[in-house]
Amino acid sequence: MTDTAPKRIVFCDFDGTITAEETFVAMLREFTPDVAAKLMPQIYDLTLTLREGVRQMLESIPSSRYPEVLEFAKTKAIRPGLVELLDFLDDRQVPFVVISGGLTGMVETVLGDLNSRVLAIHAVDVDTSGEYFQPRSSCEGETEFVAKVEIVKGYGVEDWVAIGDSVTDLNMAMAAPLVFARHRLCQYLDERGKAYEPFETFFDVLDRLKSLWSGDVCLG
Ligand SMILES: [Mg+2]
Repeated sequence: MTDTAPKRIVFCDFDGTITAEETFVAMLREFTPDVAAKLMPQIYDLTLTLREGVRQMLESIPSSRYPEVLEFAKTKAIRPGLVELLDFLDDRQVPFVVISGGLTGMVETVLGDLNSRVLAIHAVDVDTSGEYFQPRSSCEGETEFVAKVEIVKGYGVEDWVAIGDSVTDLNMAMAAPLVFARHRLCQYLDERGKAYEPFETFFDVLDRLKSLWSGDVCLG
């Protein structure tokens, strides 16, 4: 594996990044509206940790509604250019990893045929054997329910790219050598003086990576 271990990896958020809209937040607002209305503003103004907020919201959803949650995800559109970006990364042998603070089942549902194109999905699994969702994170951090930076570190690459849109990507973006940001994440990064590449579609990411990586020398 050492000879073929990737030197570069792209780590991409899911909700509001791969999906054109915030699927997970929309799901929470649909399936646990009262708790979401109370906790979501506290998460966005950073007075409640993601770890606590996400856990409380998920634990308030009855397990019996899990099939509806997956059904809800089916209607969500993918941001344009993802397939083309994956093709480009394949050519360059750069793996694409999805790291999401949302539910694994929702990520897989939306990705559909594209599941086979991603190296891995790191997200939240839910145990639905009890009355309410019991969320299980593969990598729970001190303040994050899914500690994205820790997951990235586990891959041991120095040259990596973060793509994200919101508060769940903030720590990962701050640590990343190269960041593509949209929506709220831009503001968080502006406030912290962290440089980033703004994007709206994956075509923007593709064009920028093409140009940034054009100087790479291929010593076949
Ligand atoms: Mg997001």
